[in-house]
Amino acid sequence: MTILDGKKLSEKIKSEVKKEVEVLKSKNLTPGLAVILVGNDPASQTYVRMKKEACQKVGIYSVVHEFPENISEKELFSTIDMINENPNIHGLLIQLPLPSHIDTTKVLERVSPTKDVDGFHPYNMGRLVEGLDTFAPCTPLGVMELLEEYKIDVYSKNVCVVGASNIVGKPMWALLVNKMASVDICHIATKDLKEHTKKADIVIVGVGKVNLITSDMIKEGAVVVDIGINKLPNGKLVGDVDFENVSKKASFITPVPGGVGPMTIAMLLKNTVKAAKKFLKEEK
Ligand code: NAD
Repeated sequence: MTILDGKKLSEKIKSEVKKEVEVLKSKNLTPGLAVILVGNDPASQTYVRMKKEACQKVGIYSVVHEFPENISEKELFSTIDMINENPNIHGLLIQLPLPSHIDTTKVLERVSPTKDVDGFHPYNMGRLVEGLDTFAPCTPLGVMELLEEYKIDVYSKNVCVVGASNIVGKPMWALLVNKMASVDICHIATKDLKEHTKKADIVIVGVGKVNLITSDMIKEGAVVVDIGINKLPNGKLVGDVDFENVSKKASFITPVPGGVGPMTIAMLLKNTVKAAKKFLKEEK
């Protein structure tokens, strides 16, 4: 069994991004990322802090716009419009979840598709499904890079994606299909999850349920990627996979933490540099 070491790969990617940032700076362009954070959710605050620190390490300028829980949609929209117009900012991400009085779809649609480094705008999602150049969502993109690094070719493989959210499972499905995998996508309404996972060469899980995937649910030698993040009452972070037992059967497996999580942040940096490069090209 081999560990898919996302932490190690993310460090390698970050040093590549840093070099690209230096090249852009030599052309008088500092890539800039704006983050909008609404409310006091401790997990969201931690993610935003980690993203800001990662930007600092590679030389990307970053700014966090923090708003109270009760911000109106109108105020949020005017901030988004302002950032969309700001030539020093090339990427804009809205930290999710947003409070329930705010229409998340409307907010995500307000972000300029050219600055949508999270890849959540329906325009970019549509381009992703069509296999066109786009900003793909960072988490599934990070999974693809991790598989590629370990030479796990998805072409012609049976892949089971568990979880079908707009930000994880669905774009994961699209990225895999574009690489010619046969993809089975499961969700809360799936009748017999085991029936699907058991026949897969690669199982990718992003649900948010501790021990959802147990060793009897995967075939011998399967590749297992765990996107889930769950906090146990003792504060320990675990994924959706029963790592201890599944790792005895898997050929490759991601740890939690240290697997997909660090890859997500590395992809955000990569997408921000991509947005900055596009900006530079269009300015010429
Ligand atoms: P979500 O709640 O939006 O979606 C969960 C999905 O899981 C849904 O499609 C739902 O139908 C499905 N589901 C729920 N219960 C199920 C069950 N018993 N069997 C099969 N499917 C089931 O969540 P999300 O935003 O997609 O996040 C999913 C998980 O991934 C969470 O743990 C989240 O913390 C984690 N996550 C990790 C990263 C990372 O960087 N590692 C990034 C994003 C999300």
